[in-house]
Amino acid sequence: MSAVPARAERARPNLLGMGRADLEAWFTDRGERRFRATQVLKWAHQHRVLDFAEMTDLGKALRERLGQAACLEAPRVVSDQRSGDGTRKWLLDAGHGNAVEMVFIPDGRRGTLCVSSQVGCALNCTFCSTARQGFNRNLTSAEIIGQLWLATELLPAGAITNVVLMGMGEPLLNFDAVVGALELMLEDCAYGMARRRVTLSTAGHVPGIRRLHERCPVALAVSLHAPEDRLRDVLVPLNRTYPIAELLDACRDYVAGDRREKVTFEYVMLDGVNDSVAHARKLARLLASVPSKVNLIPFNPFPGAPYRRSSQAVIDSFREQLVGAGITTITRKTRGEDIDAACGQLAGRVEARARRVRERRAAAAAQPGV
Ligand code: SAH
Repeated sequence: MSAVPARAERARPNLLGMGRADLEAWFTDRGERRFRATQVLKWAHQHRVLDFAEMTDLGKALRERLGQAACLEAPRVVSDQRSGDGTRKWLLDAGHGNAVEMVFIPDGRRGTLCVSSQVGCALNCTFCSTARQGFNRNLTSAEIIGQLWLATELLPAGAITNVVLMGMGEPLLNFDAVVGALELMLEDCAYGMARRRVTLSTAGHVPGIRRLHERCPVALAVSLHAPEDRLRDVLVPLNRTYPIAELLDACRDYVAGDRREKVTFEYVMLDGVNDSVAHARKLARLLASVPSKVNLIPFNPFPGAPYRRSSQAVIDSFREQLVGAGITTITRKTRGEDIDAACGQLAGRVEARARRVRERRAAAAAQPGV
């Protein structure tokens, strides 16, 4: 649970984020029948009814008790933007002046919803604009699954075919809430998505990858960005705790049980930093022992960013090296750039806690005698 729950949640639990097991326990703890959980799951996630009073196959007295003891709430939309290429971005209220972003990327028959897991991010990757915002808090399960609930409501039926946890935040540092939301994505009585249509992207939190494999092995993406520790230590500071060799061990174990499964490695193309042919060769050698595919992401600039995007020619020759080594490699199309919805451009509105504390201290210091 988050450190700063939304006001409504403090008063009454938000059942929107509860998976089958938790919801069954919640009902039986109150002396109600277990199957009520299935009914409420279907009402909320499939019939899209959040008002207990409208759940007509629950007795009237039960509906009233539920209305008093609990709530079902999805996040509130603060603003909505459309890109010329069909990409859509919503800013969602996260309370206390904060907001997170959610993006929908249509691509032929595929429609990918990109959801956030934290208000801001604490990892400080040097090429990511979310990092600039600092970290405020974890989203709750209800706020994470609430993004899918909301997008399903806002988009035409069947538009969302895939979900990626690639929005704001590091999902494996909000493990329990993220797994709760993932379970609801896969749950037949909720969204019933196939495991491979749900992807979690991590900057490389090794214990989290191992726990995810045990708890809810959805498709795994890893933001690698460099083929050697010296460079990755700078770009992704989490590498100083979990270096590349340990990370790749965890990736190998993640897909070991299934011959068809691969880890997707994301690699942001930074001009003159990580994009040489030598880097590509090193990467190919590194990934030779991991069933993998590579997504090259042209760097998306943001104000004050210390990097430039690699040229198309450089990206193409990087890709050729990997393809030549037998690694499936695609260059991710940049989508939604005109509305700052592309990878690494999500900023939301984050009041960083560390920053707030610093400011308060500075204000106190400026007032002698306080
Ligand atoms: N914290 C997780 C989830 C965020 S996913 C992770 O790191 O995987 C966001 C993806 O966009 C990551 O692969 C990230 O490395 C990439 N990214 C961040 N900033 C970017 C930028 N400015 N341009 C292109 N891709 C970027």
